[in-house]
Amino acid sequence: MDFVYCDHNAGAPIRPEASEAVARALSAANPSSIHRAGRAAKAMLEDAREALARAVGAAPENVVFASGATEALHLALAASGARSLVVSALEHDAVFAQAPLVSRSSDAPLFVAPATHDGVVDLSALEALLAAAPKPALVALMLANNETGAIQPVARAAALVREAGAMLLVDAAQALGRIRVDLTSLDATYLVVSSHKIGGPQGVGALVLAPGAPFVTPGAGGGQERGRRPGTENVASLAGFGVAAASAVRDLDGEALRLAALRDRFEAALPRGARVFATSSPRLPNTSLFAMPNLRAESAVIALDLAGVCVSSGAACSSGKVRPSRVLAAMGVSEADSRRALRVSFGWNSTEADVDAALAAIHALAARHAEAA
Ligand code: PLP
Repeated sequence: MDFVYCDHNAGAPIRPEASEAVARALSAANPSSIHRAGRAAKAMLEDAREALARAVGAAPENVVFASGATEALHLALAASGARSLVVSALEHDAVFAQAPLVSRSSDAPLFVAPATHDGVVDLSALEALLAAAPKPALVALMLANNETGAIQPVARAAALVREAGAMLLVDAAQALGRIRVDLTSLDATYLVVSSHKIGGPQGVGALVLAPGAPFVTPGAGGGQERGRRPGTENVASLAGFGVAAASAVRDLDGEALRLAALRDRFEAALPRGARVFATSSPRLPNTSLFAMPNLRAESAVIALDLAGVCVSSGAACSSGKVRPSRVLAAMGVSEADSRRALRVSFGWNSTEADVDAALAAIHALAARHAEAA
């Protein structure tokens, strides 16, 4: 690569072993066909299902493959049959923007659980909302935030959810391969993961169900995925997803330490005056969201790209317009600080040399900016 890639939270480069698995499966037949070619495709699909199930501590028959975390989250929101929805203010738009639509179509009132200044859900507010919400409620709480990396108190939230007779949907898209993701210890009813965040191909993900989780199938079709998500499966990409999932959890503790060392090396050498967000919470080992004095994220992302370093702004960028981050606003961060937020996120192929190259580009940019000011 002739550039330095520090944007694994947006999408990790595909792992070589996942890429090889995709290539091997590209000519797969329809896995629902009963002839030998179909059975061979089915075997590839079921291998992927088993690998994914093992990675998150679930039963293979409770893994529902979908086109990504977004679709898997939409499936869970629609399929729970909940009479009310409670979503944290920190959720990804796949939940946050979809929940009002589900609320309207299913006549289930929607409540938003606020965040604290530390970037985690406010548990006492969640408890109060659960007391008021019609039962059974579905609570959506991510395991780790994609912008700040803040790890959410899912175990404590799960205890409140259980006490209230509610269901819990955990978006673990950013957590898999970085911290432990285990369906049972999280006490989640529904768990969602994504392939391209862990070095698998884009366009596939999974909804994982706890045993006995309610599932009102939202659509009909060919009956694939036990009727839960009809449509011919993307065998090649799912084969890559299975291999990536196995790799991502193989030496999780060691990899988490390696990533944390890279992240700490990065943060320790940031230019003077830089502010790192959500440091008072436990964070993913790979993510750093920071702001530099007087430097707008929009122009910094472009300048760093010109210097060969890929990072992202903390602000949501859609249709060419950069809006201040909803997540930082929910944490009480001012709009001015939010507009300066830059995110670096490391992953399986990141090295100390990448960190040092990113730092050199950031220091050069800060120096040019200080001169011009
Ligand atoms: N949830 C979180 C926390 C994410 O960071 C993302 C992707 O950015 C998604 C869900 C959506 O994932 P996908 O791209 O697989 O639809």
